[in-house]
Amino acid sequence: MRFKLTNNNSIGVRLIGFALLVVGISACSREAPILNGATMGTTYSVIVPSLKSSDQEVLQSLVEAALSRVNTAMSTYQADSSISRFNNSRTTDWFVVPTDFAYVTEAALQIASATVGAFDPTVGPLVSRWGFGKDQSDAVPEADEIDGLLEQVGYKSLQVNIETNSLRKSSGDLQVDLNAIAKGYAVDLLAEAVADLGYVNFLVEIGGELRVSGKNSDAQAWRVGVENPTSGAAGKDDPPIGLLLESGGVATSGDYRNAFESDGVRYSHIIDPRSGYPVSHKLASVTVVADTAMYADAWATALMVLGPDEGMKLAESHGLASYFIVRADEGFVTFSSAEFAKLARSP
Ligand code: AMP
Ligand code: MG
Repeated sequence: MRFKLTNNNSIGVRLIGFALLVVGISACSREAPILNGATMGTTYSVIVPSLKSSDQEVLQSLVEAALSRVNTAMSTYQADSSISRFNNSRTTDWFVVPTDFAYVTEAALQIASATVGAFDPTVGPLVSRWGFGKDQSDAVPEADEIDGLLEQVGYKSLQVNIETNSLRKSSGDLQVDLNAIAKGYAVDLLAEAVADLGYVNFLVEIGGELRVSGKNSDAQAWRVGVENPTSGAAGKDDPPIGLLLESGGVATSGDYRNAFESDGVRYSHIIDPRSGYPVSHKLASVTVVADTAMYADAWATALMVLGPDEGMKLAESHGLASYFIVRADEGFVTFSSAEFAKLARSP
């Protein structure tokens, strides 16, 4: 049995108060104009409370160009993207890639190093074999197959040079998977597109990963709510906690968002590259607030791999604002890092 949250259900960070109107914006003409559409297997939206109608068209084309730039560079779902070409190539020479791809790879390698490989942008072969890549399957691999795939994985076998925008793998079968970070980067590009038009008040979001700036249309800080891990199923639970933000990026990674069950065991799309298996601890989701959506996205996945204890320890030592929702015998228990506690509000 497969569980995959897409579109509205995949919103890890829900917009509350004013922003909840996003869902029914068409019925509320006095609210901010928004752009929205489909991308990366989910949806995006752009909210600019004071957007001039004369800017709408140019903003739409800037947003579409940014999304297309990210997909053409880093989508493992597009056969002709740069990442697919790099993955299909067996060359161990330097390989020139688009600037965005080199930049995001460098950030991914930073997080890999900070987590000693719990976050690993070369985890792709394991992700694919566990059925969470382009071809989905629920077939649980044998232990020796995992061992074989682990030999193809290792962030130390990937190098990046951001001066020449090139990547190099030290073994021909190394694969790069930036799905844990590229969406956040795309959110940052959307924010840049809006800011480049001179706006300071906006919220941009892809699949619930978001970046805010300034104030909402009520001249208040943006209010966002962290998704309850059961809301995908129940569809109506209130967000357990809210945030008031005037800048920064927010992302959630959850073991429940893409998973399958086989013989009574749930297997999640978050893979621990140190064991080769999907994570099996009790952490259901991690939400991170950071300066950029890219770092929020990457850290949320990284902490999700590390689990409740090791993850919170690392979050505190890096001064990360993070919020953990952990499965308990009945329901969930939540933990906030010190930095997150400063931002949290009742929804
Ligand atoms: P996210 O939804 O941002 O947590 O990203 C999940 C995606 O990241 C998965 O679908 C995989 O493609 C990839 N991924 C899974 N495990 C890891 C890992 N340990 N390090 C980096 N990326 C991962
Ligand atoms: Mg992520």
